[in-house]
Amino acid sequence: MTVVGVDDTDSRKRGMCTTYLAARIAERIESAGGDVERRLLVRLNPAVDRKTRGNAALAVHTDLDAEKAADIAREELAPLAETEDPRTSPGLVVADCDPEAVPEQVAQFASDAVRSFHDLDDALALAADAGFETESWAEGYGRIGALAAVGAYRAFEEWTYEQIAYRAFERCGTPREVDEASLFAAADEGYPAAWDTVDHGEGEAVCVPSAPGPILYGIRGESPEAVRSVAAGIESEPVERDALFLTNQGTDAHLRAVDVDDLGELRDDRAYRVDAVVTDEPATRRGGHVFLRVRAADGDSTELQAAAFEPTKRFRDRVRALRRGDRLTLCGEVSDSTLKLEKFAVRDLNRTAERNPVCPDCGNTMSSAGREQGYRCRDCNTSAPGKETVELDRELEQGWYEVPPCARRHIAKPLVRGGFDAPTHPER
Ligand code: ZN
Repeated sequence: MTVVGVDDTDSRKRGMCTTYLAARIAERIESAGGDVERRLLVRLNPAVDRKTRGNAALAVHTDLDAEKAADIAREELAPLAETEDPRTSPGLVVADCDPEAVPEQVAQFASDAVRSFHDLDDALALAADAGFETESWAEGYGRIGALAAVGAYRAFEEWTYEQIAYRAFERCGTPREVDEASLFAAADEGYPAAWDTVDHGEGEAVCVPSAPGPILYGIRGESPEAVRSVAAGIESEPVERDALFLTNQGTDAHLRAVDVDDLGELRDDRAYRVDAVVTDEPATRRGGHVFLRVRAADGDSTELQAAAFEPTKRFRDRVRALRRGDRLTLCGEVSDSTLKLEKFAVRDLNRTAERNPVCPDCGNTMSSAGREQGYRCRDCNTSAPGKETVELDRELEQGWYEVPPCARRHIAKPLVRGGFDAPTHPER
């Protein structure tokens, strides 16, 4: 077997896209007489996305001879490097072995690439040790993702599928013609085995990208049958080619579950699952972003800011419904010392609050009678010794809440997929 790993880092700016590149490589391998066993779409640490946009890497598993497969990949990658942008640096790594048989260190490299960062020298040393062929253009940073793609099949246990339909290349840049009625009907028919196809709350066709590029739509789900059947129900402009990918999308592979007693230990550009207690009432700020202050569930009082930004839409209402004292599990990436919420679990709701007492005669709220002197209604001359505890009416329930499909990150696991440790409240 041969494993061809590719990463084209920044070339998506030119309307290319890594999956399209891999689909073409796979087609040419088949034309050359090779069998393509699978195409792998590997989402790397999404925090890297902001910096290099190189957060997806691809692998093709084939029985074609490694030398021939490498030649094909080289011919497809080389033209991408012909750009003025020095950050566009395609990389290629070819392993002459079964995807399950890559060295343990290469698998470890792949799982680390989803949760943290690698530098190029480590990637090159590891590839050389393993006897993999590598090729690079420009600065060659693409070899980091390419090596991670080679190691991914051994590294991960949880996989999902994406069926991607591509446009005719000459149509790229024009509005996509996808019939929304057939798309929404196919999405409903395929749910929940296929998820994040549409966002009913926003009325949005999530599977149709808005950025320029060759993808017409991508259907995500649990099995090849599930995603293909949704795709088959969509009426659209001509599909030039399509390809099925095995992927770590929708698996939460980026989250590290940590048990810390000080949230100050969480680091930027990493994603966490962590227990916390709300320390202040949520606040909505300019732009509609909702902020929340939390501290570790047990231990230090160091506060961390968590946020649900405007694009997370109705998820912000769930965050606004939180109260001081609520015990939660939070999931999201930390950047600029702010945990960007992807989902949270309500573990324990604070159901009481301290309020100034209410006057039994007129029903108005009493005011303080002075330091250590209790409360009084000046109109009725009634008094009370201290604050009273009132029951809060809470709209949240125990369990998991998530951002809607329109705001989902590729790698984040939708609640509808199941396997969570509490009841779920899936968005669709
Ligand atoms: Zn009164």
